Amino acid sequence: MFYPDMLSLFMAGMFPKSFGVMERREWIDHSQDAVYDVAIVGGGITGAGIANILSQNGLKIILLEKGDFASGTSSGSSKLIHGGLRYLANLHLREVRTLLKERNYLSKNTDIVKFMNFRILIDPYSWKRETMRLGLITYNVLSGNPEFPRMKRNSGEYGSEVRGYFTYRDAWSDDCRLTIYNILSAVNAGARCLNYARVVSIKNEGNTIRIDAEDSVDKRKFSVTARYGINAAGPWSKKVYDLSEGKNDISLKLSKGVHIVVPAEKAKTQSAIVFRSHLDQRQMFIIPRGEVTIIGTTDKFLNDPDDFSVSEEDVNYIVSSARRIFPSLSEEDVTYSYAGIRPLFGNGDDPGSISRGFVIRESERMIHIFGGKLTDYRYAARRVASIYGKKTDLKLRIRSMPLVNYSRPHISGKELYLYEMNHECALYPEDIVRRREAFDVYRKDRGNSELDLINSLFEDRENAHVISPKS
Ligand SMILES: Cc1cc2nc3c(=O)[nH]c(=O)nc-3n(C[C@H](O)[C@H](O)[C@H](O)COP(=O)(O)OP(=O)(O)OC[C@H]3O[C@@H](n4cnc5c(N)ncnc54)[C@H](O)[C@@H]3O)c2cc1C
Repeated sequence: MFYPDMLSLFMAGMFPKSFGVMERREWIDHSQDAVYDVAIVGGGITGAGIANILSQNGLKIILLEKGDFASGTSSGSSKLIHGGLRYLANLHLREVRTLLKERNYLSKNTDIVKFMNFRILIDPYSWKRETMRLGLITYNVLSGNPEFPRMKRNSGEYGSEVRGYFTYRDAWSDDCRLTIYNILSAVNAGARCLNYARVVSIKNEGNTIRIDAEDSVDKRKFSVTARYGINAAGPWSKKVYDLSEGKNDISLKLSKGVHIVVPAEKAKTQSAIVFRSHLDQRQMFIIPRGEVTIIGTTDKFLNDPDDFSVSEEDVNYIVSSARRIFPSLSEEDVTYSYAGIRPLFGNGDDPGSISRGFVIRESERMIHIFGGKLTDYRYAARRVASIYGKKTDLKLRIRSMPLVNYSRPHISGKELYLYEMNHECALYPEDIVRRREAFDVYRKDRGNSELDLINSLFEDRENAHVISPKS
Protein backbone atom coordinates (compact mmCIF):
# COMPACT_ATOMS: atom_id res chain seq x y z
CA MET A 1 0.00 0.00 0.00
CA PHE A 2 1.25 3.53 -0.74
CA TYR A 3 0.54 6.39 1.66
CA PRO A 4 0.70 10.07 0.60
CA ASP A 5 3.48 10.96 3.01
CA MET A 6 5.61 7.95 2.07
CA LEU A 7 7.57 9.81 -0.58
CA SER A 8 8.97 12.24 1.98
CA LEU A 9 9.92 9.32 4.24
CA PHE A 10 11.58 7.57 1.32
CA MET A 11 13.55 10.73 0.48
CA ALA A 12 14.66 10.95 4.11
CA GLY A 13 15.91 7.34 3.95
CA MET A 14 13.27 6.31 6.48
CA PHE A 15 10.99 4.22 4.31
CA PRO A 16 9.45 1.77 6.75
CA LYS A 17 9.78 -1.96 6.24
CA SER A 18 6.74 -4.17 6.33
CA PHE A 19 6.45 -5.13 9.97
CA GLY A 20 3.20 -6.87 10.74
CA VAL A 21 1.69 -10.23 11.60
CA MET A 22 3.35 -12.05 8.64
CA GLU A 23 6.90 -10.85 9.33
CA ARG A 24 6.50 -11.64 13.02
CA ARG A 25 5.25 -15.16 12.21
CA GLU A 26 8.14 -15.79 9.84
CA TRP A 27 10.70 -14.60 12.39
CA ILE A 28 9.30 -17.02 14.96
CA ASP A 29 9.20 -19.86 12.39
CA HIS A 30 12.92 -19.26 11.80
CA SER A 31 13.90 -18.37 15.36
CA GLN A 32 16.28 -21.34 15.58
CA ASP A 33 18.04 -20.74 12.25
CA ALA A 34 20.62 -18.37 13.69
CA VAL A 35 22.58 -17.56 16.81
CA TYR A 36 21.81 -13.99 17.77
CA ASP A 37 24.49 -11.73 19.22
CA VAL A 38 22.04 -10.46 21.82
CA ALA A 39 18.53 -11.38 22.96
CA ILE A 40 16.72 -8.61 24.82
CA VAL A 41 13.86 -9.31 27.25
CA GLY A 42 11.39 -6.41 27.42
CA GLY A 43 9.94 -4.13 24.74
CA GLY A 44 9.44 -0.96 26.78
CA ILE A 45 11.52 2.14 26.12
CA THR A 46 14.62 0.64 27.80
CA GLY A 47 14.66 -2.57 25.73
CA ALA A 48 13.72 -0.65 22.56
CA GLY A 49 16.58 1.84 23.08
CA ILE A 50 19.07 -0.99 23.66
CA ALA A 51 17.83 -2.90 20.59
CA ASN A 52 18.23 0.31 18.65
CA ILE A 53 21.83 1.09 19.64
CA LEU A 54 23.03 -2.50 19.21
CA SER A 55 21.36 -3.10 15.84
CA GLN A 56 22.66 0.26 14.59
CA ASN A 57 26.11 -1.17 15.40
CA GLY A 58 25.46 -4.07 13.02
CA LEU A 59 24.75 -6.70 15.70
CA LYS A 60 22.18 -9.45 15.23
CA ILE A 61 19.46 -8.67 17.73
CA ILE A 62 16.22 -10.26 18.81
CA LEU A 63 13.83 -8.60 21.27
CA LEU A 64 11.05 -10.46 23.08
CA GLU A 65 8.13 -8.65 24.68
CA LYS A 66 5.41 -10.54 26.55
CA GLY A 67 2.62 -8.10 25.68
CA ASP A 68 2.50 -5.37 23.10
CA PHE A 69 5.47 -3.02 22.81
CA ALA A 70 5.20 -0.36 25.56
CA SER A 71 2.47 -2.26 27.37
CA GLY A 72 4.32 -1.96 30.72
CA THR A 73 5.45 1.25 32.43
CA SER A 74 6.24 2.80 29.05
CA SER A 75 2.55 3.54 28.55
CA GLY A 76 1.89 4.56 32.15
CA SER A 77 4.16 7.54 32.65
CA SER A 78 3.50 11.29 32.88
CA LYS A 79 4.74 11.44 29.26
CA LEU A 80 7.23 14.23 29.99
CA ILE A 81 10.73 14.50 28.64
CA HIS A 82 12.23 16.58 31.36
CA GLY A 83 15.37 17.40 33.30
CA GLY A 84 13.86 16.57 36.68
CA LEU A 85 13.84 19.98 38.33
CA ARG A 86 13.09 18.38 41.69
CA TYR A 87 16.36 16.39 41.63
CA LEU A 88 18.16 19.71 42.13
CA ALA A 89 16.90 19.69 45.74
CA ASN A 90 19.32 16.76 46.27
CA LEU A 91 22.05 18.47 44.22
CA HIS A 92 21.96 15.77 41.53
CA LEU A 93 23.45 18.23 39.04
CA ARG A 94 25.09 15.68 36.78
CA GLU A 95 21.87 13.65 36.48
CA VAL A 96 19.85 16.76 35.66
CA ARG A 97 22.42 17.83 33.06
CA THR A 98 22.27 14.40 31.37
CA LEU A 99 18.47 14.46 31.34
CA LEU A 100 18.44 17.97 29.87
CA LYS A 101 20.94 16.99 27.17
CA GLU A 102 18.76 14.00 26.27
CA ARG A 103 15.64 16.18 26.25
CA ASN A 104 17.32 18.66 23.92
CA TYR A 105 18.55 15.87 21.61
CA LEU A 106 15.11 14.27 21.36
CA SER A 107 13.35 17.56 20.73
CA LYS A 108 15.74 18.29 17.84
CA ASN A 109 15.85 14.82 16.34
CA THR A 110 12.30 13.49 16.55
CA ASP A 111 8.93 14.94 15.68
CA ILE A 112 7.25 13.66 18.85
CA VAL A 113 9.08 15.56 21.59
CA LYS A 114 7.93 19.17 21.91
CA PHE A 115 8.66 21.97 24.33
CA MET A 116 5.94 23.53 26.42
CA ASN A 117 5.74 26.11 29.21
CA PHE A 118 5.54 24.90 32.79
CA ARG A 119 4.33 26.98 35.71
CA ILE A 120 5.62 26.03 39.11
CA LEU A 121 3.33 27.33 41.82
CA ILE A 122 4.42 29.19 44.93
CA ASP A 123 2.13 28.50 47.88
CA PRO A 124 2.42 27.34 51.51
CA TYR A 125 3.41 23.81 50.41
CA SER A 126 6.01 24.67 47.75
CA TRP A 127 9.67 25.51 48.03
CA LYS A 128 10.21 29.08 49.26
CA ARG A 129 10.18 31.70 46.53
CA GLU A 130 13.93 32.49 46.64
CA THR A 131 14.90 28.79 46.83
CA MET A 132 12.72 28.18 43.81
CA ARG A 133 14.33 31.07 41.94
CA LEU A 134 17.79 29.66 42.68
CA GLY A 135 16.68 26.19 41.54
CA LEU A 136 15.33 27.59 38.29
CA ILE A 137 18.45 29.66 37.62
CA THR A 138 20.50 26.46 37.98
CA TYR A 139 18.04 24.51 35.79
CA ASN A 140 18.14 27.20 33.09
CA VAL A 141 21.96 27.35 33.17
CA LEU A 142 22.23 23.56 32.91
CA SER A 143 19.84 23.52 29.94
CA GLY A 144 21.56 26.43 28.17
CA ASN A 145 18.62 28.78 28.62
CA PRO A 146 19.70 32.31 29.66
CA GLU A 147 16.29 33.44 30.99
CA PHE A 148 16.12 34.90 34.49
CA PRO A 149 13.11 33.52 36.42
CA ARG A 150 10.61 36.10 37.73
CA MET A 151 7.56 35.29 39.83
CA LYS A 152 4.16 36.33 38.43
CA ARG A 153 1.27 36.93 40.84
CA ASN A 154 -1.79 34.69 40.83
CA SER A 155 -4.46 36.92 39.36
CA GLY A 156 -7.31 34.59 40.32
CA GLU A 157 -6.61 31.77 37.81
CA TYR A 158 -5.78 29.37 40.63
CA GLY A 159 -7.17 28.73 44.14
CA SER A 160 -6.61 31.45 46.76
CA GLU A 161 -3.65 29.76 48.50
CA VAL A 162 -1.50 30.15 45.38
CA ARG A 163 0.58 33.35 45.63
CA GLY A 164 2.10 33.15 42.19
CA TYR A 165 4.22 31.09 39.84
CA PHE A 166 7.52 30.90 37.99
CA THR A 167 7.62 29.82 34.36
CA TYR A 168 10.18 27.47 32.80
CA ARG A 169 10.38 25.19 29.76
CA ASP A 170 10.41 21.40 29.52
CA ALA A 171 9.07 18.92 26.99
CA TRP A 172 6.23 16.46 26.48
CA SER A 173 6.00 13.41 24.30
CA ASP A 174 4.05 10.20 24.07
CA ASP A 175 5.75 7.33 25.88
CA CYS A 176 4.24 4.54 23.71
CA ARG A 177 5.01 6.33 20.50
CA LEU A 178 8.59 7.05 21.54
CA THR A 179 8.97 3.35 22.30
CA ILE A 180 7.45 2.39 18.93
CA TYR A 181 9.78 4.86 17.19
CA ASN A 182 12.75 3.06 18.76
CA ILE A 183 11.36 -0.39 17.98
CA LEU A 184 10.91 0.65 14.35
CA SER A 185 14.37 2.22 14.22
CA ALA A 186 15.80 -1.06 15.48
CA VAL A 187 13.73 -3.13 13.03
CA ASN A 188 14.86 -0.88 10.18
CA ALA A 189 18.47 -1.54 11.29
CA GLY A 190 17.85 -5.32 11.10
CA ALA A 191 16.62 -6.23 14.61
CA ARG A 192 13.80 -8.74 15.03
CA CYS A 193 11.37 -7.40 17.59
CA LEU A 194 8.60 -9.73 18.69
CA ASN A 195 5.59 -8.57 20.65
CA TYR A 196 3.35 -11.08 22.45
CA ALA A 197 6.39 -13.34 23.08
CA ARG A 198 6.87 -14.14 26.77
CA VAL A 199 10.24 -15.39 27.98
CA VAL A 200 9.71 -18.36 30.30
CA SER A 201 13.24 -19.65 30.77
CA ILE A 202 16.84 -18.53 30.24
CA LYS A 203 19.61 -21.13 30.50
CA ASN A 204 23.38 -21.01 29.96
CA GLU A 205 24.53 -23.48 27.30
CA GLY A 206 28.31 -23.24 26.98
CA ASN A 207 29.12 -20.01 25.15
CA THR A 208 25.50 -19.16 24.50
CA ILE A 209 22.19 -18.82 26.28
CA ARG A 210 18.99 -20.54 25.31
CA ILE A 211 15.75 -18.65 25.80
CA ASP A 212 12.42 -20.45 25.74
CA ALA A 213 9.43 -18.30 24.93
CA GLU A 214 5.68 -18.52 24.35
CA ASP A 215 4.00 -16.87 21.38
CA SER A 216 0.52 -15.93 22.61
CA VAL A 217 -0.72 -15.00 19.12
CA ASP A 218 -0.18 -18.36 17.41
CA LYS A 219 -0.28 -20.24 20.75
CA ARG A 220 3.06 -22.00 20.41
CA LYS A 221 6.41 -22.34 22.13
CA PHE A 222 9.73 -21.44 20.49
CA SER A 223 13.38 -21.03 21.42
CA VAL A 224 16.12 -18.56 20.66
CA THR A 225 19.88 -18.96 21.03
CA ALA A 226 22.03 -15.92 21.69
CA ARG A 227 25.58 -15.19 22.84
CA TYR A 228 24.34 -12.70 25.45
CA GLY A 229 21.07 -11.72 27.04
CA ILE A 230 19.88 -8.34 28.27
CA ASN A 231 17.17 -8.04 30.88
CA ALA A 232 15.20 -4.83 30.31
CA ALA A 233 11.97 -6.08 31.88
CA GLY A 234 11.25 -2.93 33.96
CA PRO A 235 9.03 -3.84 36.93
CA TRP A 236 9.49 -7.54 36.05
CA SER A 237 13.30 -7.28 35.90
CA LYS A 238 13.78 -8.97 39.27
CA LYS A 239 11.66 -11.91 38.06
CA VAL A 240 13.80 -12.16 34.92
CA TYR A 241 16.98 -11.80 37.01
CA ASP A 242 15.91 -14.63 39.35
CA LEU A 243 14.97 -16.75 36.31
CA SER A 244 18.28 -16.32 34.50
CA GLU A 245 20.69 -16.19 37.44
CA GLY A 246 18.91 -18.89 39.44
CA LYS A 247 19.22 -16.86 42.63
CA ASN A 248 17.27 -14.36 44.63
CA ASP A 249 19.88 -11.92 45.93
CA ILE A 250 18.69 -8.49 44.84
CA SER A 251 15.98 -6.28 46.25
CA LEU A 252 13.79 -4.35 43.84
CA LYS A 253 10.94 -2.30 45.23
CA LEU A 254 7.95 -1.35 43.13
CA SER A 255 5.84 1.77 43.38
CA LYS A 256 2.51 2.46 41.70
CA GLY A 257 1.96 5.85 40.06
CA VAL A 258 -1.60 6.72 39.04
CA HIS A 259 -2.75 9.50 36.68
CA ILE A 260 -6.27 10.71 36.05
CA VAL A 261 -7.59 12.25 32.84
CA VAL A 262 -10.25 14.98 32.78
CA PRO A 263 -11.72 16.96 29.85
CA ALA A 264 -9.57 20.06 29.20
CA GLU A 265 -12.38 22.44 30.20
CA LYS A 266 -12.49 20.96 33.72
CA ALA A 267 -8.89 21.94 34.46
CA LYS A 268 -8.25 24.62 31.90
CA THR A 269 -4.62 25.57 31.43
CA GLN A 270 -2.31 26.46 28.55
CA SER A 271 0.86 25.64 30.50
CA ALA A 272 1.66 22.51 32.47
CA ILE A 273 1.46 23.13 36.21
CA VAL A 274 3.82 21.78 38.85
CA PHE A 275 2.69 21.89 42.45
CA ARG A 276 2.89 20.02 45.72
CA SER A 277 -0.05 18.18 47.22
CA HIS A 278 -1.25 19.75 50.47
CA LEU A 279 -2.00 16.19 51.67
CA ASP A 280 1.58 14.89 51.74
CA GLN A 281 3.76 17.54 50.01
CA ARG A 282 4.42 15.27 47.00
CA GLN A 283 5.19 16.95 43.70
CA MET A 284 2.39 16.64 41.15
CA PHE A 285 1.81 17.64 37.52
CA ILE A 286 -1.23 19.01 35.68
CA ILE A 287 -0.52 18.58 31.97
CA PRO A 288 -2.73 19.92 29.16
CA ARG A 289 -2.84 17.51 26.20
CA GLY A 290 -5.31 18.88 23.64
CA GLU A 291 -8.84 17.68 24.45
CA VAL A 292 -7.82 16.55 27.93
CA THR A 293 -5.76 17.40 30.98
CA ILE A 294 -3.67 14.69 32.67
CA ILE A 295 -3.10 14.96 36.43
CA GLY A 296 -0.80 12.80 38.54
CA THR A 297 0.64 11.05 40.25
CA THR A 298 0.57 8.83 43.31
CA ASP A 299 3.64 7.02 44.67
CA LYS A 300 2.78 3.93 46.72
CA PHE A 301 4.64 0.66 47.27
CA LEU A 302 3.24 -2.35 45.43
CA ASN A 303 4.11 -6.05 45.72
CA ASP A 304 3.25 -7.69 42.42
CA PRO A 305 3.58 -6.04 38.98
CA ASP A 306 0.91 -8.43 37.65
CA ASP A 307 -1.66 -7.58 40.30
CA PHE A 308 -2.66 -3.94 40.65
CA SER A 309 -5.45 -1.56 39.79
CA VAL A 310 -6.39 2.08 40.20
CA SER A 311 -8.36 2.43 43.45
CA GLU A 312 -10.98 4.95 44.45
CA GLU A 313 -8.52 6.18 47.07
CA ASP A 314 -5.91 6.89 44.34
CA VAL A 315 -8.43 8.94 42.35
CA ASN A 316 -9.67 10.80 45.46
CA TYR A 317 -6.11 11.70 46.43
CA ILE A 318 -5.34 13.20 43.02
CA VAL A 319 -8.65 15.05 42.73
CA SER A 320 -8.38 16.50 46.28
CA SER A 321 -4.80 17.61 45.64
CA ALA A 322 -5.67 19.28 42.33
CA ARG A 323 -8.85 20.87 43.70
CA ARG A 324 -6.65 23.35 45.54
CA ILE A 325 -5.63 24.64 42.10
CA PHE A 326 -8.95 24.10 40.28
CA PRO A 327 -11.60 24.35 43.05
CA SER A 328 -14.52 23.03 40.98
CA LEU A 329 -12.78 19.77 39.95
CA SER A 330 -14.60 16.63 41.08
CA GLU A 331 -14.30 12.84 40.87
CA GLU A 332 -17.17 12.79 38.33
CA ASP A 333 -14.99 14.70 35.86
CA VAL A 334 -12.54 11.82 35.54
CA THR A 335 -12.87 10.13 32.12
CA TYR A 336 -9.99 7.69 32.52
CA SER A 337 -7.26 6.72 34.94
CA TYR A 338 -4.12 4.68 34.43
CA ALA A 339 -1.20 3.39 36.46
CA GLY A 340 2.48 2.82 35.79
CA ILE A 341 4.92 0.96 38.00
CA ARG A 342 8.31 2.31 39.03
CA PRO A 343 11.00 -0.29 39.68
CA LEU A 344 13.13 1.20 42.48
CA PHE A 345 16.56 -0.22 43.19
CA GLY A 346 17.35 0.87 46.73
CA ASN A 347 16.08 0.97 50.25
CA GLY A 348 13.78 3.34 52.07
CA ASP A 349 10.36 3.49 53.68
CA ASP A 350 9.16 6.28 51.39
CA PRO A 351 9.08 5.43 47.67
CA GLY A 352 9.55 9.14 46.87
CA SER A 353 12.96 9.12 48.59
CA ILE A 354 14.41 6.20 46.55
CA SER A 355 16.49 7.21 43.52
CA ARG A 356 14.79 7.13 40.10
CA GLY A 357 18.15 6.44 38.43
CA PHE A 358 18.97 3.10 36.83
CA VAL A 359 21.36 0.42 38.11
CA ILE A 360 23.15 -2.19 35.94
CA ARG A 361 24.31 -5.64 37.08
CA GLU A 362 26.10 -8.18 34.94
CA SER A 363 26.93 -11.86 35.02
CA GLU A 364 28.81 -14.04 32.54
CA ARG A 365 26.17 -14.00 29.81
CA MET A 366 23.57 -11.48 31.04
CA ILE A 367 23.33 -7.73 31.56
CA HIS A 368 20.44 -6.59 33.79
CA ILE A 369 19.17 -3.03 33.95
CA PHE A 370 16.87 -1.93 36.77
CA GLY A 371 14.95 1.35 36.90
CA GLY A 372 15.51 4.50 34.83
CA LYS A 373 13.44 7.16 33.13
CA LEU A 374 11.82 7.68 29.77
CA THR A 375 13.93 10.81 29.24
CA ASP A 376 17.33 9.14 29.67
CA TYR A 377 16.64 5.91 27.79
CA ARG A 378 19.38 6.73 25.25
CA TYR A 379 21.88 7.30 28.02
CA ALA A 380 20.88 3.96 29.60
CA ALA A 381 21.26 2.26 26.19
CA ARG A 382 24.76 3.75 25.81
CA ARG A 383 25.77 2.48 29.26
CA VAL A 384 24.50 -1.03 28.49
CA ALA A 385 26.19 -0.99 25.06
CA SER A 386 29.51 0.04 26.53
CA ILE A 387 29.35 -2.81 29.08
CA TYR A 388 28.51 -5.19 26.24
CA GLY A 389 31.43 -3.79 24.21
CA LYS A 390 33.83 -4.44 27.12
CA LYS A 391 32.51 -7.98 27.62
CA THR A 392 32.98 -8.87 23.95
CA ASP A 393 36.02 -6.72 23.08
CA LEU A 394 34.00 -5.09 20.34
CA LYS A 395 34.52 -1.45 19.49
CA LEU A 396 31.01 -0.09 19.23
CA ARG A 397 29.83 3.32 18.14
CA ILE A 398 28.35 4.73 21.32
CA ARG A 399 28.73 8.51 21.28
CA SER A 400 25.54 10.35 20.27
CA MET A 401 23.75 7.01 19.85
CA PRO A 402 21.19 5.58 19.41
CA LEU A 403 19.71 7.54 16.52
CA VAL A 404 15.95 7.67 16.18
CA ASN A 405 15.70 6.72 12.51
CA TYR A 406 11.94 6.56 12.24
CA SER A 407 9.05 8.92 11.83
CA ARG A 408 5.44 8.11 11.15
CA PRO A 409 3.82 9.53 7.97
CA HIS A 410 1.15 12.21 8.45
CA ILE A 411 -1.93 10.12 7.74
CA SER A 412 -5.13 9.57 9.67
CA GLY A 413 -8.22 7.36 10.02
CA LYS A 414 -8.32 4.03 8.19
CA GLU A 415 -5.07 4.71 6.36
CA LEU A 416 -3.25 5.29 9.66
CA TYR A 417 -4.70 2.19 11.36
CA LEU A 418 -3.74 0.00 8.39
CA TYR A 419 -0.28 1.50 8.50
CA GLU A 420 -0.01 0.68 12.21
CA MET A 421 -1.04 -2.92 11.48
CA ASN A 422 1.34 -3.38 8.54
CA HIS A 423 4.34 -1.30 9.58
CA GLU A 424 4.19 -1.03 13.38
CA CYS A 425 3.03 -4.58 14.14
CA ALA A 426 -0.29 -3.71 15.81
CA LEU A 427 -1.82 -7.19 16.18
CA TYR A 428 -5.05 -6.40 18.05
CA PRO A 429 -7.45 -3.43 18.13
CA GLU A 430 -6.21 -2.53 21.63
CA ASP A 431 -2.65 -2.14 20.28
CA ILE A 432 -3.96 0.83 18.32
CA VAL A 433 -6.60 2.11 20.75
CA ARG A 434 -4.56 1.79 23.97
CA ARG A 435 -1.02 2.35 22.76
CA ARG A 436 -0.22 3.58 19.22
CA GLU A 437 -3.06 6.14 19.48
CA ALA A 438 -3.76 5.97 23.26
CA PHE A 439 -7.34 7.21 22.70
CA ASP A 440 -8.24 6.40 26.31
CA VAL A 441 -5.82 9.08 27.40
CA TYR A 442 -5.97 11.72 24.68
CA ARG A 443 -9.57 11.64 23.50
CA LYS A 444 -12.50 12.86 25.57
CA ASP A 445 -14.69 10.15 24.00
CA ARG A 446 -11.89 7.60 24.53
CA GLY A 447 -11.92 6.88 20.81
CA ASN A 448 -15.43 5.36 20.85
CA SER A 449 -16.19 6.93 17.47
CA GLU A 450 -13.26 5.01 15.90
CA LEU A 451 -13.83 1.60 17.50
CA ASP A 452 -16.14 0.08 14.87
CA LEU A 453 -13.72 0.95 12.12
CA ILE A 454 -10.67 -0.32 14.01
CA ASN A 455 -12.43 -3.55 15.10
CA SER A 456 -13.54 -4.17 11.49
CA LEU A 457 -9.95 -3.96 10.21
CA PHE A 458 -9.03 -6.86 12.46
CA GLU A 459 -12.17 -8.89 11.78
CA ASP A 460 -10.45 -11.48 9.62
CA ARG A 461 -7.70 -11.97 12.17
CA GLU A 462 -7.89 -14.94 14.48
CA ASN A 463 -7.95 -14.06 18.20
CA ALA A 464 -8.73 -10.40 17.54
CA HIS A 465 -10.24 -9.15 20.79
CA VAL A 466 -12.96 -6.75 19.82
CA ILE A 467 -13.00 -3.60 21.95
CA SER A 468 -16.36 -2.38 23.21
CA PRO A 469 -17.15 1.32 23.57
CA LYS A 470 -16.39 2.81 27.01
CA SER A 471 -18.78 5.06 28.87
C1 LIG B 1 3.77 7.04 37.20
C2 LIG B 1 5.03 7.19 36.43
C3 LIG B 1 5.32 8.40 35.78
C4 LIG B 1 6.50 8.54 35.07
N1 LIG B 1 6.72 9.71 34.39
C5 LIG B 1 7.86 9.87 33.69
C6 LIG B 1 8.07 11.05 32.95
O1 LIG B 1 7.21 11.92 32.85
N2 LIG B 1 9.25 11.19 32.31
C7 LIG B 1 10.22 10.23 32.37
O2 LIG B 1 11.29 10.45 31.81
N3 LIG B 1 10.03 9.06 33.02
C8 LIG B 1 8.86 8.85 33.69
N4 LIG B 1 8.63 7.68 34.33
C9 LIG B 1 9.61 6.61 34.20
C10 LIG B 1 9.44 5.85 32.87
O3 LIG B 1 8.08 5.68 32.58
C11 LIG B 1 10.11 4.50 32.97
O4 LIG B 1 11.46 4.70 33.30
C12 LIG B 1 10.10 3.72 31.67
O5 LIG B 1 8.85 3.69 31.06
C13 LIG B 1 10.57 2.31 31.97
O6 LIG B 1 10.65 1.60 30.79
P1 LIG B 1 11.15 0.10 30.80
O7 LIG B 1 11.31 -0.28 29.39
O8 LIG B 1 12.34 -0.02 31.68
O9 LIG B 1 9.98 -0.71 31.52
P2 LIG B 1 8.59 -1.18 30.87
O10 LIG B 1 8.03 -0.14 30.00
O11 LIG B 1 7.74 -1.68 31.96
O12 LIG B 1 9.04 -2.37 29.93
C14 LIG B 1 9.39 -3.63 30.42
C15 LIG B 1 8.73 -4.64 29.51
O13 LIG B 1 9.21 -5.94 29.82
C16 LIG B 1 8.17 -6.83 29.47
N5 LIG B 1 8.42 -8.12 30.13
C17 LIG B 1 8.43 -8.37 31.45
N6 LIG B 1 8.67 -9.68 31.67
C18 LIG B 1 8.82 -10.26 30.46
C19 LIG B 1 9.05 -11.60 30.03
N7 LIG B 1 9.18 -12.62 30.88
N8 LIG B 1 9.14 -11.84 28.70
C20 LIG B 1 9.01 -10.83 27.79
N9 LIG B 1 8.76 -9.56 28.16
C21 LIG B 1 8.68 -9.27 29.47
C22 LIG B 1 6.92 -6.14 29.99
O14 LIG B 1 5.75 -6.61 29.39
C23 LIG B 1 7.22 -4.68 29.69
O15 LIG B 1 6.60 -4.23 28.50
C24 LIG B 1 7.44 7.49 35.02
C25 LIG B 1 7.15 6.26 35.65
C26 LIG B 1 5.95 6.11 36.33
C27 LIG B 1 5.63 4.80 36.94
